[in-house]
Amino acid sequence: MALPVTSVLWKDYVDDRAVQESDFEVSASDIDPANLQDGEVLVELLYLSVDPYLRGRMRRMKSYYFIGPFESGKPLASGGIGLVKASKAAGFAAGDVVSGMLPWSSLAVLDQAAQGMLQKLEPSLLGTAPLSYFLGTLGMPGMTAWASIKKIAEPIKQGEVAFVSGAAGAVGLVAGQLLKNEYGCRVIGSAGSDDKVALLKQLGFDEAFNYKSVDTAAALKAAAPDGIDIYFDNVGGPTLETVLDQARSHARIVACGMISQYDLPDEQKYGVKNLFNLITKRIKLEGFIVSDYMAELGAAFGATMAEHVQQGKVKALEHTTEGIENAGKAFVEMMAGGNTGKAVVKVAAEDPF
Ligand code: NDP
Repeated sequence: MALPVTSVLWKDYVDDRAVQESDFEVSASDIDPANLQDGEVLVELLYLSVDPYLRGRMRRMKSYYFIGPFESGKPLASGGIGLVKASKAAGFAAGDVVSGMLPWSSLAVLDQAAQGMLQKLEPSLLGTAPLSYFLGTLGMPGMTAWASIKKIAEPIKQGEVAFVSGAAGAVGLVAGQLLKNEYGCRVIGSAGSDDKVALLKQLGFDEAFNYKSVDTAAALKAAAPDGIDIYFDNVGGPTLETVLDQARSHARIVACGMISQYDLPDEQKYGVKNLFNLITKRIKLEGFIVSDYMAELGAAFGATMAEHVQQGKVKALEHTTEGIENAGKAFVEMMAGGNTGKAVVKVAAEDPF
């Protein structure tokens, strides 16, 4: 018997403005599991991740991006957690919980190429944390914060001053809490609302400010009069320029993201004017893509972060939107700062675990 499927399709490139809900199209179709072919897997989507990097797949790419653009008229895809409903492929069986790149469809038939972007979630992990955490603190964003601090900011001395921008988001919250509770830094965070600032202080950030209502340069000068040792950069643009001016000698800058620039056409992107600071202050500024670290650090990350969460060193926060049909809305809201913690979409009505 054919089963109903709801998908969210990408319409067309958006190069010079914020993406809107009308850039996505919700479509209805069906899948008959009896038609599953050899080598295919039928996966029900349980949770979906909406992430800033998807913005890069929604535009014409003039310069290198680490993954290609979305195809017009096809479902988008992003990190997800799914349940295998039926399988005619080696390595997957009905009842397996999988994580990886999944189409924005409530139910999908995945061929072998798509299966290459999926992993089975270790059965011993089921029940240890809400499944959606594996898209956030215990998944890609958590790994992003943990591994990049290790690889780029270490060695870190107790008491060093760390600044995290985008601090109330998925990556920023983990980065700030790790720098505070694991490394003993004095941590400053910036975020885009007073509620987020209050939350950062509750979580133990030493200082926090709303970059929309105060001047970043003045706020940083007040919070760190002797300068910044570590900058975890989620936003780029003028904030990066300010930090370069206020960095101390031998500062380390983890160039994680530049979300302040993602909606701008290339010719309007901010040109940081004071890179000479890199030389005079011997600053290390290093970019990365989280997948660079997976082979070396993936397993250690899973065990370490689970322990941090259990011990309360890292609190996992989420912003949940219900329903696959609202995935586009969830993305738009996340890009506009509507989320505190990891933005996820709960797709299946019932979490089977
Ligand atoms: P978040 O959960 O932080 O959500 C995005 C947040 O960005 C919003 O909530 C909003 O918070 C903030 N934001 C939006 N526009 C602006 C702006 N103009 N200036 C400053 N802040 C803005 O997302 P993630 O934690 O998933 O990602 C954070 C960053 O890390 C992104 O830049 C992303 O691209 C990057 N990243 C990089 C990876 C890598 O491998 N290098 C991997 C994963 C993420 P607010 O209310 O504070 O404005």
